[in-house]
Amino acid sequence: MNLSHIQSEDLDLYALIKKEAERQKEGLELIPSENYTSPAVMESMGSILTNKYSEGYAKKRYYGGNEFIDNIELLAIERAKNLFGVPHANVQPYSGSPANLAIYMATCQPGDVVLGLNLTDGGHLTHGWKVSATGIFYKTYGYHSKPDGRVDFDEVRKLAKEHKPKLIWCGATAYMYEIEYEQFAEIADSVGAFLAADIAHVAGLIAAGAHKSPANFAHIITTTTHKTLRGPRGGMIMATHKGLEKDPELGDKMDKAVFPGLQGGPHDHQTGAIAIALKEAATEEFKKYGHQIVKNAKALAESLKNNGIKLVGNGTENHLLLLDLVPVYGPGGGAFGSEVLELAGMTANKNTIPGEPGSPFYPSGVRMGTPALTTRGMKEKEMEKVGKWIASAIMEAKDYQLPGVKEDRSPYLSKFKKEIKGNETLKKIREEIKQFTKDFPVPGIE
Ligand SMILES: *Cc1c(COP(=O)(O)O)cnc(C)c1O
Repeated sequence: MNLSHIQSEDLDLYALIKKEAERQKEGLELIPSENYTSPAVMESMGSILTNKYSEGYAKKRYYGGNEFIDNIELLAIERAKNLFGVPHANVQPYSGSPANLAIYMATCQPGDVVLGLNLTDGGHLTHGWKVSATGIFYKTYGYHSKPDGRVDFDEVRKLAKEHKPKLIWCGATAYMYEIEYEQFAEIADSVGAFLAADIAHVAGLIAAGAHKSPANFAHIITTTTHKTLRGPRGGMIMATHKGLEKDPELGDKMDKAVFPGLQGGPHDHQTGAIAIALKEAATEEFKKYGHQIVKNAKALAESLKNNGIKLVGNGTENHLLLLDLVPVYGPGGGAFGSEVLELAGMTANKNTIPGEPGSPFYPSGVRMGTPALTTRGMKEKEMEKVGKWIASAIMEAKDYQLPGVKEDRSPYLSKFKKEIKGNETLKKIREEIKQFTKDFPVPGIE
């Protein structure tokens, strides 16, 4: 990571980036939507490509000087099409959320009916949650998951029959199973809806062949490029052969929805970085990486269970685990878990669990995953160790319980944070982890 120019121009920013690099290196990154991207991806992100305006699409730009930018974008598109086996790809979405909004624009009129997985059951905001633009401008219904975390397909079928959606979303942000594309496709086809597979979390697993591709089942695929796919922050949308059969103009509609519908000029430095990430994702090495993510997640699940932690679904089929902390802290105690992990040098996030007995703000679970640790070269043996650290950190707060009275909660959490800060066991784990991580380099950080 070369910061020499920042160092001579802006010591304030320099110091902060150095601190963040240290944090990324010395801790265990367990947030399942995060990863460490490659130095080559970062070089494109920091390159002169950021200087250019190129509103429009290749050969149809509103600005001059796009001869080379056109080729960069076409390279990224070609690689996306090959990697995911689709006939149409758009690599301009700034990130996953605008990519998803573009799908509503391409397939629906404002007020049209859309189905998606409910946020507190593992769905994403952009699948129609009430505070998201997608829930405000479209008539959205959320389907739910059963106690084991699996989508309730009887409910999806019932909602589809009753409300005749234009668009159905599958894919999630806290889901421990392989996405059931066939079942969703059967339901979407039976009511004539578009099926959009949002593979933001699992794109890397699909690229690696560790998970099945949605290309034969969905009409549309959307993804982020920065999660398991390990590229720069960004988004992509794709139309499948099935999608173009349903609507031959689908690709064109998606392109128009991104620009001029939602965005202005594409981020060409990001497009270049996506092209590199897609090239990397097509290698043998990445295949191994994708499979190892899943092996590691299963090993981490075993270790956690052996150390007394309950998991939603009792394990995982992908990169992600959802810890049900009700047996440890009672309802609503996810924040105790994320706090002790943070103090012990591990980053994860509090999360709702199926049938959440707390609330979205005071959820009862913690979500974690293995993509970032796997990038650092950790394997099953290391996961066993990590599981022990996680479990012992969590147990350090087992005597805390969220008050039932709403007004008492925030002061109680503040008091908890003050008390737990000096915990010696957590400090000891943090130090052990700092030593342990020295053997597992982070790409781009010395
Ligand atoms: C992360 C995620 C998104 C949104 O991505 P951003 O880049 O944060 O906007 C969309 N859908 C799913 C399922 C996600 O997990």
